[in-house]
Parts: sequence; C-alpha cells; structure tokens
Amino acid sequence: MTITLDPGHGQFKNPGVLAGYYEGTRVFMLAYELKKELEKYEDVTVRVTREKLEDDPSLTTRGKSAGKNGSTLFISLHTNAASNPTAHGVSVFCSVKRPGSEELGCLLGEAVVKTMKKHTDITYLRGVMTRTQSGDGGVIEDYYGVIRNSVKYDCVKYSYIIEHGFHTNETECAYMYGDGSLSEIARAEADVIGGYFGLKKKKDPDPGYVEYTVKPGDTLIGIARKYGTTYKILAEYNGIKDPDLIHTGQIIKIPCPAEINVGDVVRLREGVYTYFPGGKKFSSWVKDYDYVVSKTADNSGGPVYRGGARCVLLGAKVDRKSGEHGSPINSWASLEYIEKVYYENKQER
Ligand SMILES: [Zn+2]
Repeated sequence: MTITLDPGHGQFKNPGVLAGYYEGTRVFMLAYELKKELEKYEDVTVRVTREKLEDDPSLTTRGKSAGKNGSTLFISLHTNAASNPTAHGVSVFCSVKRPGSEELGCLLGEAVVKTMKKHTDITYLRGVMTRTQSGDGGVIEDYYGVIRNSVKYDCVKYSYIIEHGFHTNETECAYMYGDGSLSEIARAEADVIGGYFGLKKKKDPDPGYVEYTVKPGDTLIGIARKYGTTYKILAEYNGIKDPDLIHTGQIIKIPCPAEINVGDVVRLREGVYTYFPGGKKFSSWVKDYDYVVSKTADNSGGPVYRGGARCVLLGAKVDRKSGEHGSPINSWASLEYIEKVYYENKQER
C-alpha cells in the first residue's frame, strides 16, 4: 500500500510557546520518523508532501498528491494552537466523505494520547471528528483543504489530520520538543497502521546470527570449528543441553561476532559471499588469508548495509603464518560470515 504523510505548514510557521519550536519544522521531523517506521513493513511505499524542510506546498497540492500517487491512507501531521494557553489534548479530523474511517482515526488518536500522556499527564483525546462546510450547490464537504482535496480520489480510503497536542501549551510543547518524543510517537502510530491493515514486518536485515542445517555425521564441535567458535558457545546460544545430541536437519544458529572495528583482523567463515551477500562466493584462495578491516561505516558514520546485510570492507590480507600484511582485497563481506581473530605477539613482528 502507498501512504502519504503531510507535515503541515513550512519551516518557520507557527512558533510554539517554547523558544525555537516551530510546528512546521517539528512535524516535518515527525513525518520522516513515521516514514522510517512504516518502511519497516513489507510492501509499503511512503510519500511525504514536503521533500525539503523549506518546502511549503499549497493545501490543494498536498491533498491531491495523495490521490495522484495512489495512496490508500493520507495523514496530515500537526500540532495545535489556541489563544488560551491552557488548551491541550489531541484531535483527529476524518473525512465526511469516508464514513467508517473514524475507527482508524480513533485508534491513531488513542495511540498518540497514550504516548504523550506518559510524559505530560494532561493529554487526552479531545475528539475524533469531521468538520464540514457547504460547498458548490450546498453540497456538504470537508472544511479542511488537505482532507477535501485528498478524498477527491477514490483510492484515498482514509484521510486524517492529527493534531499532536498544542504547541501553545507549555507542557505539550515541551513534550513535542523533547528528545525522542517524535520517534516514540512515530512508533506508536506505525504500530496502529501496521495492525489495522495487517501489514507484515520485513525480516530484520541483521538478525545477529547465521543458520546452519545439521548434516548426517555432523558434530557440534565440528560445526563450531567450521565457524571459528566453540561448541560451548553454540550449545548455550541454541539452548542445547547435551552437545552430543544434535540431529540431522536441526537448525543451529551461529552467533555473529559482537563487534568488528576498523583495524581488527578477521577470518572468513564458510559460505561467505564476495562484494555483498547474494553475490559470488569468495574463491577458495581468498580464505587462506586473514584480513584487516578497513571500513565499518559509510561516510555518514552509519553501518554499511549491502544486499540487506550489514557489511564491512576487507583491507590488507594477513599471512596466517608470518602475520605479514599484504596487498588489500577491498571487498565487502557480511558481518555474520566473518570472525575476529587475534594474533599473539602481534606487536613483536
Ligand atoms: Zn497545523
């Protein structure tokens, strides 16, 4: 399914009661947190009406973009304002043209309230409502432009505005401006959406282990040796009480090394692929050597993922007998297929 998120207003629109808070900036950040959470589900495409923080498209453009990109769900994200500084709480607006959509609106509103209330104490659900006006020829239509324009398209079955508390209220503004609040709200909202539409979470690209299927004649010690670990580690990791009792077809999980840093020397395990997982198998001579890890992060400092698995870049090869460093290999290998090795008396060489 496709989902359009609409962070309201522009960058410096609608300052809050706390210095530096702008609704247009904060809800922009919320939209991208929510996008990240929603993209953890399979077959979900998320569009955001503002690509850049400075963007401030018209209400018509925002609403219509949801229909044009084939969205089922449209959510316009806001924080509320009132001249009375004590006004507080969460509001959800639904479309008068989409009877039945109040149910999801209510679930979203309740999830936001539950999240905020843990920190603010005061937040409550003000209402899940429709607000209407009389359009051409007296036809009742949605009052809010973003909702009105989105439901001009049949594909948009659910269209909402969510007001995440009031930025004119000190307590709620402080929460919305706080560290971690936006990711917390995004997770709560994504949970509701995932549950409502029965979405399936994607498989974790970095499960922390690799699976081995026991073949006839295998022993736990033999498997451990193959992967450069010990049978005790494997027995504990897999909850095996008697290491002598494993059976053909049993899945043994081989844990990934806890941490690999630049400069560590690593050995390649069985089954490792070259360049990225799913690529070609490393040729056998490559495995005669150990390697110095030359890169564990991308240029932004984040871990490197290739082919859906966390990877490190292998640098200089290390002769296992002499410990001498040779020419670099410069190939990516996935973390779960490498093990860290230590050279004794490394300093003396
Ligand atoms: Zn707003």
